[in-house]
Amino acid sequence: SDRILGGFRKTSARLSLNLAGIVGKTRLTDAQLDELEDALIMSDLGPAAALRIRERIAEHQFDSGADEQAIRLVVAEEIASILRPVAKPLDIVAFPRPQVILVIGVNGSGKTTTIAKLAHLFQEQDYSVMLAAGDTFRAAAIGQLKIWAQRLNIDIVTGPEGGDPASVVFDAVKEATQRGIDALIVDTAGRLQNRRELMDELTKIRKVLGRLNPEAPHDVVLVLDATNGQNALQQVEVFQQMAGVTGLIMTKLDGTARGGVLVAAAQKFALPIHAIGVGEQLDDLRPFDADLVARVIA
Ligand code: GDP
Repeated sequence: SDRILGGFRKTSARLSLNLAGIVGKTRLTDAQLDELEDALIMSDLGPAAALRIRERIAEHQFDSGADEQAIRLVVAEEIASILRPVAKPLDIVAFPRPQVILVIGVNGSGKTTTIAKLAHLFQEQDYSVMLAAGDTFRAAAIGQLKIWAQRLNIDIVTGPEGGDPASVVFDAVKEATQRGIDALIVDTAGRLQNRRELMDELTKIRKVLGRLNPEAPHDVVLVLDATNGQNALQQVEVFQQMAGVTGLIMTKLDGTARGGVLVAAAQKFALPIHAIGVGEQLDDLRPFDADLVARVIA
C-alpha cells in the first residue's frame, strides 16, 4: 500500500550508504562495513540488528560487484529474516469467548485510535466486538472511545471519571460473556509519569480478569509510537515489567523516518508484531508484512 511505502521510504532515505570505493568490489572492507553499520544505527535499526546485518554483508560475496542496489538487496533479506518470525496477526481464538484484549501504552501513542481500528478489523472478519473504557483517569479518553464505539455501532462499557478501572473491566467481561461477544477490547490508562499508580492499576485489572477467566487477558497489546524512535524500545521494557506484553502494534509509520525502530524492536524483544498503524482512519491498520517492510526500508 502507498501509505506503508511512503512512510518507510523516508526511513530508507535515511539509510544513506556511502558508496565511495565500494562499487565493483566483491567484498566490503572493514571500514566500509563500519560505515554501513553506522548508517543502519542512524536509521534506528538499533545496535544488535545493525551488527547482525553487518556480519551478513561481511560474509557476502558480491559476484558481479557491489553497488547500492546489490547491498540494499542483501540488507533487505537480512531485515526480512529478523521480521518474519514476529509477524503474527491478532487472531480471535479464545474459547470460551470473549477473547479479552488489554491494550496498553503511553498517552498519545495512538492507543484509542488503534482500539477503534482493531474493532473495525474484527467486525470486518464478522466477529462481534465490545469495548471497555478502562482509562477512567482521562475524561477525554472515555469520550473519544465512546465516539468511536458509536461510529462502529458497537457497545461500550464505561464507568465514572475517576472511577475504578478494574470495576469497569469486571462489568464489561460479565456483559460480554453473557452476550457471547467474540472480542472484548479494553482501553487502559497510560500515565507513565506515575508509574507506581499505573502499575497498581494494571495489576488490579489483571487480577480481576483472571478471577473471571484464568485465561484472561488473552492478549496484552502494547501500542508504540514509531516517531519516538529508540524511546519506544524503553517503553517495551517498562510495560513488560508492569503488565507483561504479548504483542506490539506500532503506530504513525506513515509519516516518520524512524520506521527502522520496528526492526530494532523485533531483534531485541522477539515479541509478535500484530499490525502497523499508517494513518488516522479506521482502515489505516495494516497487517504486518515482513517482506514488504524489509524491501521498503532497505
Ligand atoms: P492515545 O492518547 O494513545 O489514546 O492516542 P490517540 O489514539 O488519541 O492518538 C493520538 C493522535 O495520534 C491522534 O491525533 C491520532 O489521530 C493520531 N494517530 C494515531 N495513530 C496514528 C497513525 O498510525 N498515523 C498517524 N499519522 N496518526 C495517528
